[in-house]
Amino acid sequence: MDTNEFKEFAKSMADFIGNYLDNIRDRRVLPTVEPGYIRPLLPETAPEEGEKWQAVMDDLEKVIMPGVTHWHHPQFHAYFPTANSYPAIVADMLSGAIACIGFSWIASPACTELEVIMLDWLGKMLDLPAEFLACSNGKGGGVIQGTASEASLVALLGAKAKALRKAKELEPDTPEAVLTSNLVGYCSDQAHSSVERAGLLGGVKLRSVAAGDDYRLRGEALRTAIREDKEAGLTPFFVVATLGTTNCCAFDDLDEIGTVCRDEDVWLHVDAAYAGSAFICPEFRPLMKGIEKADSFNFNPHKWMLVNFDCSAMWLKDPNYVVNAFNVDPLYLKHEQQGNAPDYRHWQIPLGRRFRSLKLWFVMRIYGVKGLQAHIRRQVALAKQFECLVLKDNRFELVCPASMGLVCFRLKGSNEMNEILLKKINSHGTIHLVPSKIKDKYFLRMAVCSRFCQPADMELAFNEVASLASELTSILS
Ligand code: PLP
Repeated sequence: MDTNEFKEFAKSMADFIGNYLDNIRDRRVLPTVEPGYIRPLLPETAPEEGEKWQAVMDDLEKVIMPGVTHWHHPQFHAYFPTANSYPAIVADMLSGAIACIGFSWIASPACTELEVIMLDWLGKMLDLPAEFLACSNGKGGGVIQGTASEASLVALLGAKAKALRKAKELEPDTPEAVLTSNLVGYCSDQAHSSVERAGLLGGVKLRSVAAGDDYRLRGEALRTAIREDKEAGLTPFFVVATLGTTNCCAFDDLDEIGTVCRDEDVWLHVDAAYAGSAFICPEFRPLMKGIEKADSFNFNPHKWMLVNFDCSAMWLKDPNYVVNAFNVDPLYLKHEQQGNAPDYRHWQIPLGRRFRSLKLWFVMRIYGVKGLQAHIRRQVALAKQFECLVLKDNRFELVCPASMGLVCFRLKGSNEMNEILLKKINSHGTIHLVPSKIKDKYFLRMAVCSRFCQPADMELAFNEVASLASELTSILS
């Protein structure tokens, strides 16, 4: 493909993308294909001779679109949002063109330097304590991870390295394997499964502590668990607090948990994967009270801040524990500026990394802080609107008050009835929801996801739920 063909291809793709997103409402939000649907639509082997780009474009509607779940459809209300914006899409094109692998500063200085500054911009937008920011000229700084799962693992490995160093000083004759087997970390029983996975991958015990009736982990429950484990001879070393749980967007009491972590000299990591974006709005920041007591903080601009996947922002007050935990230093990766700027390969699991900060730069500049705040506030208001509709229909109950862009609700009655209702909703295909369960109570989650979502879409979503509930109750009665 020569440059002129590329330009035509890219323009044609830009048209396709614009039309796809403008007309996304006309598509069925959840596809109806069966597993294996693509095989009969494609040749058995790759073509021997290169094809024209037009032939590839022609196949998008035939092959790909029938099997796409349209996450940006205004009636997609499953999981949590994943971001999509034109500035981020265009930034990804440039990242693809530069196509550097920015593992060290010299591997592409702009890739590292823009990332340092974008994480400072973003940290200031959230009003993070200065200790987290590179511009404070302390040890702290930010990094873009691929996902919140990686951030939790990286934090856990940093905490493990710190705890083992301390344990070795106290017990120099005890084998490292024994010291490691004594380590124990904590999260609430509402934490995301990726936190449990970080414990498994990191080879340490992770104890799940029961959240309160309001689904929030409180300081006292954590303090009790730590005391019990210390009495049993274990070494508490790591706590994950969740701000915006996946089940129902509950906020652990960070202030209380932070105090316990300080008292016990335990690393505190904050997982705000979804809800962290809301902290760009000052009115939501009381929910992050106590953030100054955390050692690491993470949220996903790729969920709710209009930066396409993948872009998970993580800040560390002292990255040295992480840097030293994974430090391998072959000659072919060394360079003369080592020590004068971060080499991000030491802050993450893989070696390679894309130029992801371009997406943040484009999005923050083109939307501005005010534009991004308006996006968050609009979606929170839409969730409130849906909550009001639920409350007006006395067949339904809320599991908890709407939180951020999430409403958790159910038909009053059995789990089975709610399971049938959800099946009906998803097979009808007008809207898409997923369920969750807390303490054996099954419920439906309505997440405001698409940036195209309007008040009329909330009415439509609720009317769909209500009319399918009427069908269900008339069958059952
Ligand atoms: N933490 C929380 C609270 C989440 O809600 C999620 C996903 O929804 C994750 C972590 C995992 O995010 P990621 O896919 O970026 O690893």
